[in-house]
Amino acid sequence: MLTIFDIKRFALHDGPGLRTTVFFKGCPLRCLWCHNPESYEMEPESHNLVRLLDGKEITMTRKYGSLIKEEDLMVEILQDKLFFEESSGGVTFSGGEPLMQYKQLISMLKLSGKNNIHRAVDTSGYASEKLISEVAGHTDLFLYDLKTMDPEMHKRSTGVDNSQILKNADVLLDMGKEVIFRIPIIPGINDSEKELDAYLRFFEKRIEKFKEVHILPYHKIGSDKYSRLNLEYPLGPIAEPKQEHIELIKQKFSISGIEVSIGG
Ligand code: SF4
Repeated sequence: MLTIFDIKRFALHDGPGLRTTVFFKGCPLRCLWCHNPESYEMEPESHNLVRLLDGKEITMTRKYGSLIKEEDLMVEILQDKLFFEESSGGVTFSGGEPLMQYKQLISMLKLSGKNNIHRAVDTSGYASEKLISEVAGHTDLFLYDLKTMDPEMHKRSTGVDNSQILKNADVLLDMGKEVIFRIPIIPGINDSEKELDAYLRFFEKRIEKFKEVHILPYHKIGSDKYSRLNLEYPLGPIAEPKQEHIELIKQKFSISGIEVSIGG
């Protein structure tokens, strides 16, 4: 049994081809810019939402997350198999942080493998080396977030240290795993020249071993979820990055021979 909070079908940005993305509930990080605060806790939860209808306040209860058996989730995923075959797509396990429910994640990866479905795992990489290696044994592609290279900023903006995350990236690359690094560009957090240089040094040392870098510009969509959950949006009001700046970042990485795309 595992806890998920969403299933997105026909996703175009979570790996190659058309994907079915399964969002696992539970995350050990608390990124200031997170768009999925409903994913933090592993247990299903309910929140009361107050809305105005014809001038009257009405309270609705919204449930976030549900428990599902692995075999039932596989039935859901298999409904899209034809689309996977037509588009060279597959399933992506995302979150939250799918490694939080790693036993269930491995079961899903094994079941998907038995059904000849391409398997991607979208992760922050925050786990033990042993755990991520075990998951890697059943995964075709990792979408691996590098949220900031600066250890102090990482701790301040996500709540956790990035040393294990960087080590685990090398564990996957040394295993010969296919890895796409994803960088959410968050103004004031990881878009300074110093920070971009640190990313570049990291990529240049490993250029033969990974596939691509995806730049994901910060956007405000999702910040209103916080008020619905009676939470304060931790990042506060910041502007979205300018397109020219994103293009410059892309150019900076591309010049070094790194394959870069904007978006997923
Ligand atoms: S790792 Fe992802 S789900 Fe977890 S807090 Fe950060 S942005 Fe949110």
